Amino acid sequence: MRLYTAAALLPAASADVIPNGGVLVDGARIVASGPSGPLRAHRDARHGAEVIDLGDVTLLPGLIDAHVHLGFDGGPGPVARMRAETEAEQLILMLRSARELLRAGVTTARDLGARAFLDVAVRDAIARGTADGPRLVTAARPITPAGGHCWFMGGECDSPDELRRMVRLHHRMGADLIKVMATGGFMTEGPAPWHAQFTAGELRIVVEEAHRLGRRVAAHAHGTEGIARAVAARADTIEHCSFAGPDGIFGSAFDPVLADEIAAAGIFVCPTINVQAPIMRERYGPVLEEVIMGLSEHGVQIIAGTDAGTDDCPHGAYVCGLEALAEAGLRARDVLGAATLRAARALGVDDRTGSVEPGKDADLIAVRGDPLRDISALHRVELVVARGNQFFPPAPAGMHPPRSGHGPAMAEPARRA
Ligand SMILES: [Zn+2]
Repeated sequence: MRLYTAAALLPAASADVIPNGGVLVDGARIVASGPSGPLRAHRDARHGAEVIDLGDVTLLPGLIDAHVHLGFDGGPGPVARMRAETEAEQLILMLRSARELLRAGVTTARDLGARAFLDVAVRDAIARGTADGPRLVTAARPITPAGGHCWFMGGECDSPDELRRMVRLHHRMGADLIKVMATGGFMTEGPAPWHAQFTAGELRIVVEEAHRLGRRVAAHAHGTEGIARAVAARADTIEHCSFAGPDGIFGSAFDPVLADEIAAAGIFVCPTINVQAPIMRERYGPVLEEVIMGLSEHGVQIIAGTDAGTDDCPHGAYVCGLEALAEAGLRARDVLGAATLRAARALGVDDRTGSVEPGKDADLIAVRGDPLRDISALHRVELVVARGNQFFPPAPAGMHPPRSGHGPAMAEPARRA
């Protein structure tokens, strides 16, 4: 049992700050939270809870990156590297990416495209305590036509039967959701980002089969036609949603009626603005920023995700994506919601994370400063706790039983319980 106390506790993005707050953690779970005085006298805390006073920091829920690729290294040529690497090499890279996310305060991440169901293996290794990383929600192979966007991840499908079979295979292999490439993309040769890759009917087959199996669908869509088809098929989240026209410029084919439809359908949008935003802005103007604010003004629920791992977008640069959302015009509280509880809802993990509440998993970070005043405070991470496992700073030896690095898989509870 551990009691974390801090000068300020922000239990949720929409909540008031509690001065001199604390969180009582038992194993992987939050037992109680609130003003630290009563917590010290809490029935459970009296039985020898270790008190960790974090001092002049803000304690808040762990952050969520709703769009990552652990198998991309975030350097100048991530696609070439993924295609050249063996599965063993990919696995090692993915474990490194997971640690980088965690160090940046990300305690939940959704991997939206990996080879060979490796993301499922990494997810399970982290859940068992064999590897360090955020809770993972995994999509495995993105569904795409032959030669379509990210075909090299193994998800090529060209008929209704192939689409159904690929969704069923993901179910059998333990993927958490389905990713479908509704349009082309920027990273690969093949269809242009503004070209729709599947018909609305094909997308509907994917969504219906996924929903039948209890899986959500994330639709990658840049061009407006692809976005419209993904909305018609009722995908659960739309990735990028950049309204790129045939000129390739984000927002040049923005459709306010479609924005209203996205909002009315309750579809979340992950615009994947990231550390590249200032460079893009210099080159093309604030085009993605205008799309984000346009969607937001139409009532669309924006969630934070960075496409971490793609060209020159390292996993550790997560907070730069939040700064870009703030720079676009979202209020700090809205950005924080996009990075916590709203993202948790979009991923279907809000019963476990996204806010500091008794019964939820202990996913906590502490930062120096007030992120509601200045989102950049999130760069100054002083503590990362994921499912009760204190990752940073490293917990002192003897605080937890030694981990079993091999042997049969251990079920939860996590090793530092
Ligand atoms: Zn992506």
